[in-house]
Amino acid sequence: MKEFKLQIVTPDGIEYDGMAESVLVRTDDGDVQILAGHVNYMASLGTGRAKITVGGKDRIAACSGGFITCNGIEVKLVAVTFEFADEIDIERAKRAKERAEDEIRRAASDKELELARARLRRAMSRISVAGK
Ligand code: ATP
Repeated sequence: MKEFKLQIVTPDGIEYDGMAESVLVRTDDGDVQILAGHVNYMASLGTGRAKITVGGKDRIAACSGGFITCNGIEVKLVAVTFEFADEIDIERAKRAKERAEDEIRRAASDKELELARARLRRAMSRISVAGK
């Protein structure tokens, strides 16, 4: 398969910088797959599973927030959080899920509820990705 340059960046640093054959991410409009030669594109990212294909092998990750751009030469994924499956601490994610569920039950405002739901989505995405 044809390759393209892919860079994945988070506030913690560079998660990936190299060639890839495909990147699949959860955008606000649903799952989008980018292959070599994709038209210029930009989308904001939701929370969910990402799949990067490198050297014929799929690498699964949990990704939340940020944006993806594609300019015909390279693809940049700038994520608020991005962890490959083997980097995820599943016990931490389970504890975060329990905390988020508790926060949802006790939320005293729409804002608190929204933040707790976002935290729950991140925790569930990590549990799902790490469990595979
Ligand atoms: P927690 O309550 O466990 O901190 P959180 O949702 O508040 O979860 P985030 O704000 O989503 O945490 O992420 C903060 C940082 O911690 C990011 O760098 C993220 O990649 C990392 N991180 C969060 N949870 C995990 C996890 N279960 N395994 C590995 N890294 C994690």
